Amino acid sequence: MKLKFNALRPGGRLAVMCLMLPAGMALGAPADVDARRVIAADREPGNWMSHGRTYGEQRFSPLKKVSDANVGQLGLAWSYKLDVDRGVEATPIVVDGVMYTTGARSIVYALDAATGRLLWKHDPKVHGIRLSEGCCDVVNRGVAVWKGKVYLGAYDGRLIALDARNGRKLWETDTVLDHGRSYTITGAPRVVKGRVLIGNGGAEYGVRGYLSAYDADSGKLSWRFYTVPGDPAKPAESKAMEMARATWFGTEYWKQGGGGTVWDAMAYDPELDLLYIGTGNASWWNRKARSDGQGDNLFVSSIVALRPATGEYVWHYQVTPGDMWDYTATQHIILADLPIDGKTRKVLMQAPKNGFFYVLDRQTGELLSAEKYAPATWATHVDMKTGRPVVDEKAANYLEGPKVVSPAFIGAHNWHPMSFNPQTGLVYIPVQETAAMLSATTPATRSPHKSVVNLGVDVPDLPEDPAIVKQISDSFKGKLVAWDPVRQKAAWSQDYRTIYNGGTLSTAGNLVFQGTADGRVVAYAADSGRKLWESPANTGVMAGPVTYEVKGEQYVSFMAGWGGTFPLILGPLSLAAKVKPESRVLTYKLGATGQLPPPRNEAQPLPVPPALTAGPEDLKAGRELFNAYCGGCHGLNAVSGGVIPDLRYLDATRHGQFESIVLHGLRAAKGMPPFASVLSPENATRIHQYLIKRAHDLNTEIGASAKR
Ligand code: CA
Repeated sequence: MKLKFNALRPGGRLAVMCLMLPAGMALGAPADVDARRVIAADREPGNWMSHGRTYGEQRFSPLKKVSDANVGQLGLAWSYKLDVDRGVEATPIVVDGVMYTTGARSIVYALDAATGRLLWKHDPKVHGIRLSEGCCDVVNRGVAVWKGKVYLGAYDGRLIALDARNGRKLWETDTVLDHGRSYTITGAPRVVKGRVLIGNGGAEYGVRGYLSAYDADSGKLSWRFYTVPGDPAKPAESKAMEMARATWFGTEYWKQGGGGTVWDAMAYDPELDLLYIGTGNASWWNRKARSDGQGDNLFVSSIVALRPATGEYVWHYQVTPGDMWDYTATQHIILADLPIDGKTRKVLMQAPKNGFFYVLDRQTGELLSAEKYAPATWATHVDMKTGRPVVDEKAANYLEGPKVVSPAFIGAHNWHPMSFNPQTGLVYIPVQETAAMLSATTPATRSPHKSVVNLGVDVPDLPEDPAIVKQISDSFKGKLVAWDPVRQKAAWSQDYRTIYNGGTLSTAGNLVFQGTADGRVVAYAADSGRKLWESPANTGVMAGPVTYEVKGEQYVSFMAGWGGTFPLILGPLSLAAKVKPESRVLTYKLGATGQLPPPRNEAQPLPVPPALTAGPEDLKAGRELFNAYCGGCHGLNAVSGGVIPDLRYLDATRHGQFESIVLHGLRAAKGMPPFASVLSPENATRIHQYLIKRAHDLNTEIGASAKR
């Protein structure tokens, strides 16, 4: 098979959607060739050439051979089993009949897009210990493809360039500036103006956020934009950091890193020559510990516009000033032209975690509208004069006592991409209605410890009682909301069994595609929301689907695979999805008749725990220690969401090795880090005893339900 990789070449055969602007128009954009280059995507709708299909990241496809009239005839054309059954979050890139995508542990796959045949695979072999250094599963949201190279951000922070023909490594560079802290990469790189752009994750552990730009050919650093200030004893790295410093208080705000990580959203407007990035929450969440309880803390939880050639700051809009609820603004950013008050406005749209849907003028950052797209108790409204949210202190300020705040830290919308259909004018948002109780604690240490989440906030206590767990789980509502960004209200919505449903794709065939947490792939009419098609996926689907054409045939492809924040951190609540992790690429076309094998359903033998020897005091301490150090992956109260082993089922061998595993890293290669530097042997024993108690609890629950 002959491969071509010039699809995204500047000035190449595919150049230019926005076309030949008069030089100097649009905010004094430099009048170079690149200012006139626009992604080729709209000239070649059969390809899906960048993360959001186009630089504006609308995730809208002009393809319409599959339409609301025939979508019922979609069948499975091919499926491809991925190596690791953990969270799958990637958006595939499809260029000239080849699909480049990623699975868990940052493994890259190049597949024949018409048949699913493996062309090559690259495993960056992220070390087991590094796999434990992120909050939200060993996920990856996909690669960038540019001029014959495939770019991967590996979980351990390496940016790797591969030869698109064979997967051979061409160069790699380490994006992590401080290996004493838990930096990871889960996001997809973007390529703008010959530079590969990538940020990091890690704000729950205490890191300083930044975005780096590397030369796409050589991997040499071009520029770096810090999102939060560093040590005030040293000179600020930029004018933007001087501005940011004035918004942080206390003397040690920089020591916990500050956060503001750029772990997902980016978009680019070639006409204005502006790059837009979304930044994450602050480190710590607790604003008192972080910044003496004051200040906006720029640029956490913000949308920032930069010059892509230099990283120079242009404007910012902070969606949650002084954030203390993990209300990141890293959620998907979409650029579009909308009719507002009788004028066509060039806008930027975002539905960040905080529950408000923002429409900004993307040239200036001016706020045009902000309405709630989901229940949000932390603020009453956004003041259109000041552009700032009016925080309901009584409802949401947990520094003065525990508060149940909505949305919860998992967000009213998380990383799952939304899409915008210019024909309907609607934005299709995977919405989550959630709430969580937060209360302030004194942060454990003044310095970050790798692999240990340190928020200065108590994780919400989840009672062990299964009836209460069910009640809370029922109150978490997942929805697909078709949002009208001009009228600022929902046009239609669909309800789901749980939260954490998949990203969306909209097409010119009047369709919206979405996978669901409960294991289906679905198509709706884009205008009315009527369900037109669904098919089983065998597992939870979280990623954003894509559509493309090969030899005149239209395909729709879903990356299926359950994992991520919901089943890891909120394990007991995620069990309502009733799926197991089983990672595959699922690709559909009209008239195909492929079948998936039956879903994994192996029965787990009953736990055989040793006798319980600890008393109530030690068990109480064991529960607190478990939830603090282990619950973030193995599930609160030792109820796993089914992605990471459920420790209630430990066998006799593992019980015997407990101390070696937990303290000394016996299973480090598998991703279980040693905790000897933060846990004493006595505390490890308390955790072990708590697990033994929970195994006995489970046997009692199983026995009781068998009798019923
Ligand atoms: Ca966060």
